[in-house]
Amino acid sequence: MPETIHTQVLIIGAGPAGYTAAIYAARGGLDPVLVSGLQPGGQLMITTDVENYPGFETAIQGPWLMEQMAKQAEHVGTRVISDLLMNVDFSCRPFRCVGDSGDVYLAETVVIATGAQARWLGLPSEKRLQGAGVSACATCDGFFYRGKQVAVIGGGNTAVEEALYLTHHADKVTLVHRRDSLRAEKILQRRLFSHPKITVVWDSAVEEVTAGGQPEVVNGVTLRNVRSGALSHLAVDGVFIAIGHMPNTTIFRGQVELDDEGYVLTKPGLTQTSVPGVFAAGDVQDKLWRQAITAAGTGCIAALEAEKFLTLQALPTVQAAAQAAE
Ligand code: NDP
Repeated sequence: MPETIHTQVLIIGAGPAGYTAAIYAARGGLDPVLVSGLQPGGQLMITTDVENYPGFETAIQGPWLMEQMAKQAEHVGTRVISDLLMNVDFSCRPFRCVGDSGDVYLAETVVIATGAQARWLGLPSEKRLQGAGVSACATCDGFFYRGKQVAVIGGGNTAVEEALYLTHHADKVTLVHRRDSLRAEKILQRRLFSHPKITVVWDSAVEEVTAGGQPEVVNGVTLRNVRSGALSHLAVDGVFIAIGHMPNTTIFRGQVELDDEGYVLTKPGLTQTSVPGVFAAGDVQDKLWRQAITAAGTGCIAALEAEKFLTLQALPTVQAAAQAAE
């Protein structure tokens, strides 16, 4: 029997942003409900060693970190519900969301924390070798390639930044791009082309990620020259796919303002979206930093903003207007 669930704060998404928002909202006495979606834990569930999340002397596992965040959120009073929201209506308060379960969520405020997904090439070998030499995050995994050779696939700002970042660790970085010019900003291109550790392979698409050993680890990529069709093999220890990200915002189209690439637009320095009372935190509104710690940071801000919003709503109108203007 479908249920109708009323809440002061509905948090959509169970990554670092969502769980942090939940922890703060629960501790603020707001009895939040967190709807966890299909992949609770978000992108950290496909990461192995995490060495850059503060508070841990040695590497921790991404799934373990997310499990701890989930337990902490529940421990302080969050109701976590496993459901997938199918549509949302932010036209008036309480905001109304409907889950795949048929349950209806009525919320005074909403925190959108549905994250983003790295785009992948779609090769079976790429999928099989994720965590065994294939990565979509140089900041997360670059450290493991000290003294080794890596390839970065892509030609945008992310690919160039990742290639430059990887030079701090790897001995040799090869950027592989499918065309003969990059779309990255010129200043980044200049840095890339002048870097002694970086080589660019133009007009090339990845046919396959190759691997050897037991357990299997990446040992190279097979490339196809898109002009001549010629195949070649590039020996590398790691492959970083940097062909863009996709924010998970399909259900929010037409409800809150999104940018050209589908990211939720928020006020500078805040998490307030175009709809008062709806906030967005983490990778769903951040295409630049995309770190667990930055997502957690904006999750915290979203909960505090939601709390402030609810407090102002509860005040008599004149007083609320004066405080909002402060
Ligand atoms: P982009 O969409 O800008 O670039 C994606 C790159 O991947 C393109 O070069 C594209 O090739 C290539 N690509 C896409 N699909 C495939 C495929 N199937 N096979 C091979 N190559 C493929 O994504 P980014 O992540 O680089 O950037 C996203 C946004 O974030 C941009 O607006 C960017 O400016 C911004 N950003 C800004 C930064 C900064 O200001 N410092 C840092 C990082 C990102 P092609 O060029 O042929 O289309």
